[in-house]
Amino acid sequence: GQCTLVCPVGALIEAPHWHDVIHTLDAHRHISAVQVAPATRVAIGEEFGMNPGTISTGRMINALRQLGFDYVFDTNFAADLTIMEEGTEFLSRLKAQKNLPLFTSCCPGWVNWVELNRPDLIPHLSTTKSPQQMHGALTKRGAFARSLGAEFESGKTEPYVVSVMPCTAKKDEAVRPGTSGDIDRVLTTRELARMIKARGIAFSALPDDGKFDNPLGESTGAAQIFGASGGVMEAVVRTATHLIDKENTLPLEWEQLRGVNTGVKTAEVPGIGKIAICNGIAAAQRLLSNDDWRKKYVAIEVMACVGGCLGGGGEPKSMDPKVLEKRMHAIYEIDKNSTRRRSYENQDVQKLYETELEKPNSEKAHHLLHTHYAPRASKRLLLMQFLDCVDRRDA
Ligand code: SF4
Repeated sequence: GQCTLVCPVGALIEAPHWHDVIHTLDAHRHISAVQVAPATRVAIGEEFGMNPGTISTGRMINALRQLGFDYVFDTNFAADLTIMEEGTEFLSRLKAQKNLPLFTSCCPGWVNWVELNRPDLIPHLSTTKSPQQMHGALTKRGAFARSLGAEFESGKTEPYVVSVMPCTAKKDEAVRPGTSGDIDRVLTTRELARMIKARGIAFSALPDDGKFDNPLGESTGAAQIFGASGGVMEAVVRTATHLIDKENTLPLEWEQLRGVNTGVKTAEVPGIGKIAICNGIAAAQRLLSNDDWRKKYVAIEVMACVGGCLGGGGEPKSMDPKVLEKRMHAIYEIDKNSTRRRSYENQDVQKLYETELEKPNSEKAHHLLHTHYAPRASKRLLLMQFLDCVDRRDA
């Protein structure tokens, strides 16, 4: 039977979405595209007996092509775009001294938690969509979709868009109001592994030489580190400090923001201010337990899972106590070996602004790449209100 698991914060049951994906790919009715999150490539090998921290990017791409996807894209392309949008949003808030500290918004587990438990924090959340949603919007409605020709223009067909993500909260994110329609199906890393096994593909024997398609496949090291706790903020700092100081005199690597074992990590960034990382939702709850954060920090990253996405509920299960560290090292190794390590250096992202979006935070960029949030009542809260109501009526 289908294994079920519950993401610590996504509150969704993992459904057998991969069956549906296989059937749709087999039917060949649409052009299909898949995007893959940074946390998947450093963990999927574990499902096939490889050591945690084995980097399987090329093998994974080859497996996705064998499964029948027409285009294999990298979520990291959109992570660079997220940084351009979020970094610019952050600097304008800093200039206006408004809605600070800025909280990151790329983890739907955290966003759900805010909407349910602390709607007063909503103005602090970055309005920038997560990389998954940005990538989906561009694949469905951007230049790529238009390049598919007359059928798309006439509205008859659109690409079938799948994403591979480290958690079930990403499934929930894909059907949120404001982002719904960007992605057709979200699979977890484990679901992708099941698909590969079901098709009899010998993953470990595949050559590790697959390459992502372009134009939605180029990325920098800054995008890759999104998969680790502290990575989103480090990527923001790499670009924001460049926007302030074009000489890049500040360091590229921020060791203080890295690591899977500390709850709250902080750093003072010259010219910007103090920033904080909450490694897991419990760390965020601790930080928010008094009001010090309002004055102390200018930006705060929260990832709901300990370790960040590399510790997500949809990643392979492991008995190795060092599994998170090993995946984390693999992520920073990919960054270290990247030719470009700051998001604004992504040539295809630059081209996208020139040809389609004008500049970060432009009206067009807002339309396609930003979202909104709203307070939500939890089912438990509604149930309690209902019981309270029944109680009063009976009394
Ligand atoms: Fe999902 Fe990553 Fe957030 Fe965990 S930290 S809930 S894996 S987006």
